[in-house]
Amino acid sequence: MIESTLTMIPGPTPVHAQILDALARPTVSHVAPAFVETFKGAIQDFAALCQTASGQPFIVSGAGTLSMEMAIVNLVAPGERLLVVSHGYFGDRFRDLAASFGIQVDVLASAWGQAVPASDLARKLEEGPYKAVTVTHVDTSTGTLAPVDAYAKVMKGRPELFILDGVCATAAHDEPFDAWGLDVLLTAAQKAIGAPPGLALCVFSQRALACRQARASVPAYYADALRWLPIMQDPGKYYSTPCVNEVVAFAEALRMVHREGLPARFKRHAAIGRAARAGLEAMELKYFTESDCRADTLSVLLLPAGVEDLPFRKGLAARGIVVAGGLGPIAGKAFRLGHMGNIGAGELVTALGAIEATLADLGSAVKPGSAVAAAAPFLP
Ligand code: PMP
Repeated sequence: MIESTLTMIPGPTPVHAQILDALARPTVSHVAPAFVETFKGAIQDFAALCQTASGQPFIVSGAGTLSMEMAIVNLVAPGERLLVVSHGYFGDRFRDLAASFGIQVDVLASAWGQAVPASDLARKLEEGPYKAVTVTHVDTSTGTLAPVDAYAKVMKGRPELFILDGVCATAAHDEPFDAWGLDVLLTAAQKAIGAPPGLALCVFSQRALACRQARASVPAYYADALRWLPIMQDPGKYYSTPCVNEVVAFAEALRMVHREGLPARFKRHAAIGRAARAGLEAMELKYFTESDCRADTLSVLLLPAGVEDLPFRKGLAARGIVVAGGLGPIAGKAFRLGHMGNIGAGELVTALGAIEATLADLGSAVKPGSAVAAAAPFLP
């Protein structure tokens, strides 16, 4: 009987023992000097992860959806217009979120599994004025990697605020906040950063902060960036009790990120992504995502004819591997394999072997050993 499982869903991702050790330290006062120093270090290390010298980090108890809400509610007023570039379920979440605050939303959507070309974004912006544009760097439902570098060129010098959701990308795909001219980069702790879930994370540009400061009030209390600003500038102050254990664990996760180094970390994710693609395609699995926009953080695969979703995932679970099912229109037809954060070559090889054995059990004509053999040349 397998007693431990390898969680290879696209978040939360497996947490390294060193980070778990940090999480398990005694809970201390949120204003204890040693904790305040740890929090300050996490704020600095998070800014460094986002590659910003002038951006203002926010680290708040919550998760990715709260960081999405902080971006929208602080920057776009009810009645103003927001352009949402959507590559799936999580792009669409910005539409629903903004609509619930009375914001007028236009959605520029790709077909699922494809990416919106930068030229379409440039054209759509002419239908504005928009107050802000949201882009989901990697949409976790479709596995689509947005061409953010090309979008940044379109957005350069424009008045619209540029909001990037990095929940499924930050710490795996390059996100140079200052060089891209981002106004908000938002993310969460539980994916490629490799910490447990529990934090809403974002960075605001000085332009975004000025935009919030120019508004007398926003329709939020907990998510109001101005209430958090004094705490982010001096974490010894109190606004709402931080989840101290999670902050200590997150600080450790960031130290691990920087010990590895950003270029090396991005390279490792690129190698793991490539190895995953080679291994999965060797089993004749078809990617749902088009080949020109596949993320390195997860793979979204169509289930082969004759293989049902639940028996497949049950078979994998019996081998100790947990993958996620499809979301939205591909629920029951696809599965999603996460390969980011603390996932390395060993975990990927284990998962590929288990997928191969499970597919064989379910009657697929897979050649034993073919997946690992195809992945091997690309493993980091
Ligand atoms: N954006 C993306 C791209 C996501 O993948 C997710 C979560 N899977 C979210 C936002 C929402 O984050 P959370 O579940 O932490 O609220």
